[in-house]
Parts: sequence; C-alpha cells; structure tokens
Amino acid sequence: SSQLNVNYTFDTFIEGDCNRLARSAGYAVANKPGVTSFNPLMIYGGVGLGKTHLVQAIGNRIKQNSPDKFVLYVSSEKFTNQFLDAIKNNNTQEFANFYLQVDVLVIDDVQFLSGKEKTQEIFFHIFNHLHQSGKQIIMTSDCPPKDLKGLQERLLSRFKWGLTADLQQPDFETRIAIIRKKMQSEGVEISDSVVEYLAYSIDTNVRELEGVLISLIAQSSLTQKEIDLELAKQTLQSIVQNIESEVGIDYIQKFVAEFFNVTVDSLKAKTRKREIVIARQVAMYFAKEYTNLSLKSIGFHFGNRDHSTVIHALTSVNDLMDTDRKFNATMQELIKKLKLKAA
Ligand code: ADP
Ligand code: MG
Repeated sequence: SSQLNVNYTFDTFIEGDCNRLARSAGYAVANKPGVTSFNPLMIYGGVGLGKTHLVQAIGNRIKQNSPDKFVLYVSSEKFTNQFLDAIKNNNTQEFANFYLQVDVLVIDDVQFLSGKEKTQEIFFHIFNHLHQSGKQIIMTSDCPPKDLKGLQERLLSRFKWGLTADLQQPDFETRIAIIRKKMQSEGVEISDSVVEYLAYSIDTNVRELEGVLISLIAQSSLTQKEIDLELAKQTLQSIVQNIESEVGIDYIQKFVAEFFNVTVDSLKAKTRKREIVIARQVAMYFAKEYTNLSLKSIGFHFGNRDHSTVIHALTSVNDLMDTDRKFNATMQELIKKLKLKAA
C-alpha cells in the first residue's frame, strides 16, 4: 500500500501567502510527476506548518490521476528502521530493490537522516537510481538544505537539483480560512467574531490552531453547536496557561503514569482495573490542583470522560488521603515532586 492518508488532499489544504509557492510547485509536480524540473521537490518549514499534509496531497493526486503508479509515502524514521532491520536480517538488497520499484517516492522529514551514514548511503543510491529513471522524488525537511547538519555533501548537492520551497507561518487571512474550513467540516457553527478572535490569538502554527479547535468542539455540547466567544476565551486561556506552566496536563499524566507504572494511554482508556483506576484518579486530582483546566476539560483529557467522573475522582482521592495513611504518605511525596517541578 502507498501509506498515504486520504484526508490530506489539495482540497483540504488552504492556500495563502504563506504557502503559495510551495503549493503551486507541489500542484505542478502532482500533475506531471518526474516531468517538470522540480525533481526532487523539497518542501521545508517548521513544525505544524503543513509539510506532511502538502506532500501527501501531491501523492494522493498522482494516485488519483494514475492509479497504476506506485506512489510511496515513508517517513525518514521508518525508512531508517526498515533499513536497520534489513541489515540485521541480511536482506539489504531486497530493501533497495523494493524502493527501486517506486514511481514516486515521498520521504518525510529528511533531517532525521542526520548522522546516519549507512542509511544516507543507501538513500543516495536509491535517489540516484530513481532520478535517472525519471521517477519523482518529493522530500520534506524542517530547515533549508543548506542548514541540514550531519547530511553528506553529495546528498545535499542533489537536493538542490530540483526545487526547494518553504512553508511559512500562516498569516491572519489563512488562519481565518483554516478555521472556517475546519469548523465547516465538523459541522460546527461559529460566529465571525469568534473566528477572528481565534485567528488573532493563535498565530504559531496550524497544528496548534487545530488542537485548540478540537478542544473547543469537544467542549461545546452536541446540542449547542454555536460556540460562543466566552467559551472560546476560557478555553484559550486554559490552553495558554497550560502551555506556559511546566506542569501541564501532559506532564501530570506522564508523571503519574510513571510513578504507578502504568501507561498514559491506559489513563485515557476505558479499563477499570484497580491499579489503573487509582492512577487515573490521582492524575485527575493533580490536574485539578495544578492546572486551570475546568472539570469538563479534565474529563476530556482522560478519554473524554464526563465531568461527574472527575468530581468522583477528586472525592475518592480526598477520602483516601484522609483514611489511608500509606496512601497519604505517597501523595505527599508526589506533591513534593510536583511542587519542585512547578516552582
Ligand atoms: P508538519 O508536517 O509541517 O509538521 P502537518 O502537515 O502535520 O505539519 O500539519 C499539521 C496540521 O495542520 C495537519 O492536521 C494539517 O492538516 C494542518 N494544516 C497545515 N497546513 C494547512 C493548510 N494550509 N490548510 C489546512 N490544513 C493545514
Ligand atoms: Mg510532518
């Protein structure tokens, strides 16, 4: 299979000043893979700016135009791991042969290859072969090729053969368009003032913007589809404070999970195993004590549980601390550690 995510298309990729060149280069490549001088096509930019989305959109479009073409999406990390496995199993030739069959290779986050000499060697070999056979290569990186540290010069010089285009921070107009599109696809109505407020407040990257939208949607009840400005503001505030303080919900979950020797996923899962229930309740308790999240949003962070479940957790932990000396001592120890971190 091509490993492409079908949701990442040109249709869902909002065009703006911040991405116009990269998008149109990508579009040209998508319609004439291997034919334009944009080979390789290298898209670079910071985290959450849409690199993966855009290169997958190119892959999806090629697949759509020519279903017979072998389009392969692979992260550089996966490529590396596959190669290491191949070395271990003595079948590097098969590994190479597999990649030599592709018509379009999309390889994501090549900065990951930094310092991995053997992997770079085989990639160099594959790259040359594909390029010579007129196959399209599409890459992404978190910085321009000239700043890629730990990559062999001969690879870097090949990256410059084609076209390099960057994705920039989304500008205000683009952020507005992204919010509208997202809300529309979720079936949520949102007034212009809220859209503008959000676009104004979150100017870092698209992933963060989406994260905020998702928690907004989760917090608006299913019947109340119109999200009001007050809710938007509260949510933003709690998210921002959560990011600013070292002890955020993510940290608390990790901290508690480690202490109780369970996984963070299990805290969010449905399981009612005794030791996990305790860990989950303790984590909820700390979330209430150390973050500004509302009960509703704490519930959301623990597998979308109801706020009454959170209240129950807080009561249970308080009761246990009152009645169980050993538990209380454990809690005091945890609190000391958390306070150190929060200080
Ligand atoms: P990167 O690979 O650069 O870290 P992603 O491609 O994973 O970033 O993008 C992060 C999120 O933002 C994804 O959900 C993606 O769909 C969304 N996104 C980024 N840019 C845009 C855009 N221009 N239009 C719509 N969604 C976008
Ligand atoms: Mg990515």
